[in-house]
Amino acid sequence: MPGPFPESIQRKIEERLRFYDDLGIRLFYRDRTASSASMDSIAPSPIVLVENVAVEEMELPKSAPKPVESKPATAKSATPTAIAPKATPAPVAPQVKEIVAKPAALLFQADDKVKDDTLLKVREDLGECTRCKLHKTRNQIVFGDGSSKARLVFVGEGPGADEDEQGLPFVGRAGKLLTQMIEAMGLQRKDVYICNVVKCRPPGNRAPEPDEVTPCSPFLLRQIDVMNPKVIVCLGAVAAKTLLNTTRGISQFRGQWLEWRGYKLMATYHPAFLLRNPPAKSEVWKDLQMVMAELGLVLPRKKSS
Ligand code: URA
Repeated sequence: MPGPFPESIQRKIEERLRFYDDLGIRLFYRDRTASSASMDSIAPSPIVLVENVAVEEMELPKSAPKPVESKPATAKSATPTAIAPKATPAPVAPQVKEIVAKPAALLFQADDKVKDDTLLKVREDLGECTRCKLHKTRNQIVFGDGSSKARLVFVGEGPGADEDEQGLPFVGRAGKLLTQMIEAMGLQRKDVYICNVVKCRPPGNRAPEPDEVTPCSPFLLRQIDVMNPKVIVCLGAVAAKTLLNTTRGISQFRGQWLEWRGYKLMATYHPAFLLRNPPAKSEVWKDLQMVMAELGLVLPRKKSS
């Protein structure tokens, strides 16, 4: 359904809200004094911040991310999950393997691992996916990129225009910054694995919607389980909040070790956020240094002249 604003303004408002969301700020109301203004004068600016969500969210929801001690993760838990009710079958192309979607709360609970799974098998099962509406607007599926033996997996939000064009994750401006971050850790892109919460571009770079994340999640889980990584880094609020099933602002739990399906998980700001907010780079660097310590990586020593 079309929103109350013209589409271009709606998109700007959404972008602005996501920007605040990255900062952990989520409560807004429209300035009532502006209500007599005409629609044309309503730009992102009339949104007035009234409260920082940190105050509102002192109480953790039950599903809040659980901090863990900084010791290596043990065997991946295989917590039995409730049997998911069968979702209404979506139209599925013949070459696509049917995977039953779970309700959102169960999305990322541990599933039994697929025995002898490989990235190739996951890719084959994904097929020319038509499980959600994103297939109608995508150019290409952006499956993931990197080493199947990676000890470090980055999970982003979803492909943007460049990724949709090239079929590879994080290859646009934000991707170049991610590459620099990886190299600053003394690694190369081929040493890690990079993927996203959804594999097709949400139109206009909006955040993926639950009915898009749900059918994509079993494939993401399988990809991660193939790698069996030592550390997962969630890039940005959407990835972190989706995996951890929390509504808390990312600024409240970034930079802490969290436990997710038996893996050690660190949430940090999205590189696109850093492009808009360069001072936040130092926070991300602190988070990545914690990741480096966990992986036993030391910074290459600068050559003395
Ligand atoms: N942003 C993401 O979250 N993922 C990409 O692949 C590119 C940009």
